[in-house]
Amino acid sequence: MRYDILTLFPEMFTGVLGHSILKRAEEKKIVNYNVVDFRTFSKDKHQRVDDYPYGGGGGMVLTPQPVFDAIEEVTKQSRCEKRRIILLCPQGERYSQKKAEELAQCDQLIFICGHYEGYDERIREHLVTDEISIGDYVLTGGELGAMVIIDSVTRLLTGVLGNETSAITDSFSSGLLEYPHYTRPVDFRGLKVPDVLLSGHHENIEQWRHEQALKRTYERRPDLLNERNLSEKERDWLQSMKKDK
Ligand code: SAM
Repeated sequence: MRYDILTLFPEMFTGVLGHSILKRAEEKKIVNYNVVDFRTFSKDKHQRVDDYPYGGGGGMVLTPQPVFDAIEEVTKQSRCEKRRIILLCPQGERYSQKKAEELAQCDQLIFICGHYEGYDERIREHLVTDEISIGDYVLTGGELGAMVIIDSVTRLLTGVLGNETSAITDSFSSGLLEYPHYTRPVDFRGLKVPDVLLSGHHENIEQWRHEQALKRTYERRPDLLNERNLSEKERDWLQSMKKDK
């Protein structure tokens, strides 16, 4: 996976991409990060990348020229075939684990991180393949959004996580929130680990975890259950959870 990040603030990425799992993914050559200061593509003599909006009004707007030129350059540099050009913007499709799984199938993701009031509409209409919002709130720039997407996509790539199964059982991946975890000690200040987890009986443990995942989803995010094709067993569990409530 090749990531190209077009930003006016490249230093913002050093901390996030240079640590922990994201750093190791690059060391293992599973991903490659190319952080580009698109100001360097500006043909303006003062290297300006923004201008006043036609029609008046407050705020500055990113001009198309540096963004188009930067994208043309990074696409020329790579032979990737499954490429997406992502515009971070609060008006975009709301980001989700499903979208992360879709993007993890690509081999190049290019991010355009906005700043100021917004973008010239021609960037949106003629350059990008996906417009993504990371939530219903407004940030000062697209950098944090790009980091969120890179982090969530990278951990899905083969070889990135030590234990491949951990991404499969994660909340949302299975359509349910993840079950609760316990570790040592068995008894912490009188608070005990559920007996089933100490039983060594794998089938019972699997069943308990599945039921707990369903319970947690029902209690915290019942909306997720509307999208799920419930098995007969899950329907029975749900019935008794509703009765117990
Ligand atoms: N005036 C714009 C609007 O109302 O849609 C908001 C611009 S915002 C101050 C500046 C930049 O931050 C945006 O161009 C975008 O790149 C980024 N941004 C803000 N909120 C975001 C969100 N929820 N998701 C992704 N990017 C966001």
